[in-house]
Amino acid sequence: MTYNDLLQGYVDKNYELECYGSVKEPIRGKDKDYRLYKIVVNPECEKTLFITNGFHGEEFNGPISLLHIFDETTDFAKKNRIRLIVYPCINPAGFDLRQRYNPSDELEYGNNDFLRYEIKKNEWVGTLKNNEPFLRYKIVDSAAKEVRLLKHDVLQYQNPAPQAVLDIHQDCLKKEQGDFYAYILDKREVYLKIMKKLAKIAPVSKNIQAENIEGKRKVHYQIDKDGFIFLRDGSITDMFHRLGSEFAVCAETNTDLPLKKVCQINLIWIKELINLISK
Ligand SMILES: [Zn+2]
Repeated sequence: MTYNDLLQGYVDKNYELECYGSVKEPIRGKDKDYRLYKIVVNPECEKTLFITNGFHGEEFNGPISLLHIFDETTDFAKKNRIRLIVYPCINPAGFDLRQRYNPSDELEYGNNDFLRYEIKKNEWVGTLKNNEPFLRYKIVDSAAKEVRLLKHDVLQYQNPAPQAVLDIHQDCLKKEQGDFYAYILDKREVYLKIMKKLAKIAPVSKNIQAENIEGKRKVHYQIDKDGFIFLRDGSITDMFHRLGSEFAVCAETNTDLPLKKVCQINLIWIKELINLISK
């Protein structure tokens, strides 16, 4: 499936694509124009679930799964009086090439390039250690043009911030490490109930150590025993949580997981977040 096929999929289902910018990317030596789109459903509703997808091009089943479950998503949102603001594929050239960053090679750190934290006077970092104190944070511009345009567009939704935000990703996990996990920032008990539902579809990945390297600085973190990562990494979910979003989740499924299961997992995240904010 190409980016154009993905867009056509939404058009065929009668969704209105709203252009928020365009970029030129070199595809096999030739510049190609990409228009960037979002979809807003139930614009009259007061509460919002905000969904971003396709930051990383090799995680292609993220965007493809959302197209498959979109009718069910919008039916459920309508029933619960929830507005959806959806960015179905943020990095279209990466998606077409099935590569992580855009071919201009600007998208490195693209998905955690929204916030910086000042940990000491004039010392700014992108990722905080666990419970690390900081002086202040600022929203920063991104090197990647797709993310710059995205950020410009999404910041119109900060007053009030969406009640819930979901960023959909995939990871190349080894089978024995499980098939899904999630980044969260708080409300562990709330999300644990959702994890238990998801565990009926695929094994949870757990107890994996990881580190984030930023120059000489290393931040150690882990996927814990329940499949959660707590990390302030300057991502779009971190930013919206700082801006006041009550629920902020980055959902990861294994890149090798069958599409059907990716769809099931992402749909559960969407429905459960809608349930949480429609209460
Ligand atoms: Zn990713």
